[in-house]
Amino acid sequence: MELKEFQDIFEQECVKNGIEYNFEKANMLYQSMKLILEWNEKVNVTAIKDEKEFIVKHFIDSLTVNSFLGNAKRVLDIGTGAGFPGIPLKIYQENVEFTLIDAVNKKVTVLQDIIDKLNLRKIEALHIRAEDLGKDENYRESFDIVTTRAVSNLATISEYMLPFVKVGGLAVCMKGPNMEDELKEAKKAIEVFGGEIEEVKKLLINEEFERNLISIRKKKRTDEKYPRGQGKPAKEPIR
Ligand code: SAM
Repeated sequence: MELKEFQDIFEQECVKNGIEYNFEKANMLYQSMKLILEWNEKVNVTAIKDEKEFIVKHFIDSLTVNSFLGNAKRVLDIGTGAGFPGIPLKIYQENVEFTLIDAVNKKVTVLQDIIDKLNLRKIEALHIRAEDLGKDENYRESFDIVTTRAVSNLATISEYMLPFVKVGGLAVCMKGPNMEDELKEAKKAIEVFGGEIEEVKKLLINEEFERNLISIRKKKRTDEKYPRGQGKPAKEPIR
């Protein structure tokens, strides 16, 4: 797909889904898509290879979180993979500091290449697990917004995310349809880590696929014993 076609499709999708369109930002998203698809020939970082689908399922979907960023100064994206939602959000929020983390090194190599080639500032990509970085006092309880898409169930990601959120800040979890049971099952965990469910924003992207944005407000500090190590948040989520 040439740049002009990309801009036209992206603009239409932005209008349909209530996302601000910007020509410069569209160019940067286009470059990041080309880089990811090029990398994808060597290392598998995304299952979405069709460019129209890429625009909707990666870019438009990621940008649904942009409205939560308001006055944020520091944002963390956990389990970012090829940079979703972190990279599109960074492109839309030039002055906000972003940290993107992933447990798989090859994904971080791809992210670093995108950061370098797009000349993005105020962003770092780290190869580390959330449970390990969550113990680091330079990162713990220091983010206004923490995001995740497609990382794990809500109880598990609450343990990954909430230790990083400042009191008063938000964890925004991108979930698909039928998340009601998951939400119920995670209530206790969210409370234990110092959070409270604020809102479930239900969107129908392109009147076709459902996106639920679960926002959790950090009400009090997280006990130092969380996040637990040795894979416990995933193997034995708090219920
Ligand atoms: N968020 C991206 C997206 O929606 O396209 C990637 C989703 S992918 C299904 C899940 C990613 O989470 C993987 O890249 C995996 O390595 C990462 N991940 C899983 N558990 C993690 C943890 N505890 N800490 C950091 N990254 C983790």
